[in-house]
Amino acid sequence: MFKPVELEIELFCRGMRIDPSCHAGEIGRRITRTRAGLGSGLEIVIPSRPKNIWANVPVVEKFAADSPFLLQQGDDRYGVVDTRTGLLYEVTIPAEPAWYSRMTSSDTPMSRIGVLQGNYLGIYVSARCLYWSSKLNLACKFCTTGKNVGTAEESRKRVEDVIEVARAARDESGAIFTHFNTGYHYEDQNDRESMHGLRMCEPYVRAVRKYVGGFIGVQAVPVPRRNFNEYDALIDAGTDHFSFCYEFEDPETFARLCPGKAQTVGQSAFFEAMEYTAKKLGRGRVSGEIIAGIEPIEATKRGIDRIVNAGAFPTVCIFRPTIGSEMENVPSPDPDAMREVFAYLHESCRRAGLPVGVLPIEVSLVVQPEETAGLVEPSFATKAYHLKNWTLRQLARPYIAWKKIPAA
Ligand code: SF4
Repeated sequence: MFKPVELEIELFCRGMRIDPSCHAGEIGRRITRTRAGLGSGLEIVIPSRPKNIWANVPVVEKFAADSPFLLQQGDDRYGVVDTRTGLLYEVTIPAEPAWYSRMTSSDTPMSRIGVLQGNYLGIYVSARCLYWSSKLNLACKFCTTGKNVGTAEESRKRVEDVIEVARAARDESGAIFTHFNTGYHYEDQNDRESMHGLRMCEPYVRAVRKYVGGFIGVQAVPVPRRNFNEYDALIDAGTDHFSFCYEFEDPETFARLCPGKAQTVGQSAFFEAMEYTAKKLGRGRVSGEIIAGIEPIEATKRGIDRIVNAGAFPTVCIFRPTIGSEMENVPSPDPDAMREVFAYLHESCRRAGLPVGVLPIEVSLVVQPEETAGLVEPSFATKAYHLKNWTLRQLARPYIAWKKIPAA
């Protein structure tokens, strides 16, 4: 029998088939191909203690058709059967929020503005990433943003529409975190006035802070050091969290699979920005994001340590060969290797004393650091670490209540 976190990793790596008993297409949240395409799975919740685990399980990618895991429905309950062992794991399928089917006041479907990924609202704020526009084919090889923006979601999002959707997500879905991301938009490195990702996010951050409240995160390709004051401006506008997707630790893998990032900003820019913002916001309030399952796991482990040493927490995404990406035929990762990576991640965070799982934000696209506790042998050190995080969670409650209040 798998532990909940082991089942989560198995499902990310092997995907899941959906039995006809589930009336596929009618259950749960719609499968959305927004942002970089990672949310292309079915959102499920795996019962776990001290908190449930949200997972966006691959169901449409080719490898999922061969998965040993089968989602079944009996009465009103759902279970995932491991057909290799016959073991049944009970899960729940969160209902699609009613607001997904409503329009904003400008007549735009709300689901084309933002979607829930776990219990937070994810919004890709801008037009297509410039790496997709380049004749040089600079897009990251695992990404499908260039195919989604303008088709599955609005390419230009009005600030008013974003406020309406963030309010609906807050009031009807209990979302307390709005996450904005963009691709690369720095049109002219020598022109300080040219529009780039960070500056595009600022009006949205300011508006959500003022009219909606909650925590706000921003993810964008790093700006040059001379523009680091723009991180300060975004913090002033209300940003609580920055994330930096440098994707691969191995420089050759980074250059080959993220040619745009390698040629325009370079790997080290991600760390400079991570260190700068971690100093401004505090340890654990910035994250470095990498993809596991493509480069050797020793490189991924080095990446985890490097992110932790920069004062950030590691967000490790299990590689998903999304349909339409250049890597759609690359095999999905081995679950045993991924278990090793996430056990290492837990130990790395614990050794650094990084606070994890303090806020009640559930991210369905990744294995969250606090979920990895079940992968390591309990010891005095792990228990002390859990106690510290539990204490921080209790102490954070008044702060969370205060952050929910709009600044207007
Ligand atoms: S930076 Fe890479 S991953 Fe992000 S949107 Fe552009 S091509 Fe996709």
